[in-house]
Amino acid sequence: MRLFEPCSWGWKPPLLALIAVVANAQSYRFAQAWDGEKLIPNAVITVDHDRIKSISTTAPPDVVDMTRYTALPGLIDVHTHMTYVLDMTRIAQSGRGAATVYMSQDNVKKTLETGVTTVRNLGASDYTDIAMRDLINAGGMTGPRMFVSGYGLQITRGGRGGGPQTADGVAEVMKVVRQQVGAGADVIKMYGSTGSGQDVTGFQTFTYEEMKAAVDAAHALGKTIAIHTYGPTGARDAVRAGADSVEHATDMDDETISEMARKKIFYVPTIDHNRYYVDNARLLRYPPGATDALNDYIRRNLESAKKAHKAGVRFAMGSDVVYTMFGENTRELGWFVKAGMTPEQALKTATTNAAGLLQHSGDLGALKPGYFADICAVEGNPLDDIDVVIQKVRWVMKGGTVVVDKRK
Ligand SMILES: [Zn+2]
Repeated sequence: MRLFEPCSWGWKPPLLALIAVVANAQSYRFAQAWDGEKLIPNAVITVDHDRIKSISTTAPPDVVDMTRYTALPGLIDVHTHMTYVLDMTRIAQSGRGAATVYMSQDNVKKTLETGVTTVRNLGASDYTDIAMRDLINAGGMTGPRMFVSGYGLQITRGGRGGGPQTADGVAEVMKVVRQQVGAGADVIKMYGSTGSGQDVTGFQTFTYEEMKAAVDAAHALGKTIAIHTYGPTGARDAVRAGADSVEHATDMDDETISEMARKKIFYVPTIDHNRYYVDNARLLRYPPGATDALNDYIRRNLESAKKAHKAGVRFAMGSDVVYTMFGENTRELGWFVKAGMTPEQALKTATTNAAGLLQHSGDLGALKPGYFADICAVEGNPLDDIDVVIQKVRWVMKGGTVVVDKRK
């Protein structure tokens, strides 16, 4: 039986959405727009259906006055867990995927409020991520555009094994990659080391040969692959195997870092998610002392980010957002500035770079004619102060529809 059958519960596209589709082009005048490369003063962005029609400085009489704001491309968070709910009711446990999708609606709403209009979701059970992606695309749920992985590949470990995510050896790795693609995944996620939540160990799990098999199987089917690794040996082998992005990774050696730069592999350090765990250690029932290990990890993570940035590695912004962290998706940008980026370089990690990682440089991550009308309006100049992006998002458009409006 299929988990998700929209027709069986009679969902139909809302009538208002259909009316919006036939409406005429609309123009918006901003104080300025940063289009992914440069600032355009007095920018007038004209939106037609779900796309940007033009950017100019002349406006028609019915232009919407947004001159209090700076327009940015809708932001992209390349490492989310949209289906992770802090399940106090325990309803979503034991594989009840429909309840998980329902309870995740708050996560998608809070994510949109940060200006994030596109996410890459790395790991979900029961293909709840695929259900959410399809619901959002069909207009049945208002949320960011999702690129999803299905199950993240894991080795047999700690008594767990045999699940749909488990793969041991090259043949099983290839099979599980193909199963995710077959189920409808856009991207492959592989857990290449231990480490998650309060556990900051980074023992390599999959071997180089298994990583290489996963990379080749994903690429053969036209998909990219993200490899999770907390420690340096997993990062070394993920880079050697040619992963498209390396997630988390601390203590990487100079050779690994320079190979990442040379191969243009994206680094998604997710520094801020451990800050979230430290701040919420009590809520998450971590034992005393867990925060010391987390803080030590944060320090090493930032150090790796500094080194990688200096070496010319490309970064993409990933929050690794879970549970009650939704709404804090873009705080990672503050760490990137601490790691030595200018605010503009940090912004690129959540726009043009992230779109490159998604292989959508032609329609996402920039404000250009023909691109999706994903626009984030902030109060202030984010090129002077990255906190403007983190804290002062006032209005968000996704695919031509206003999804957040906090203008007063
Ligand atoms: Zn993650």
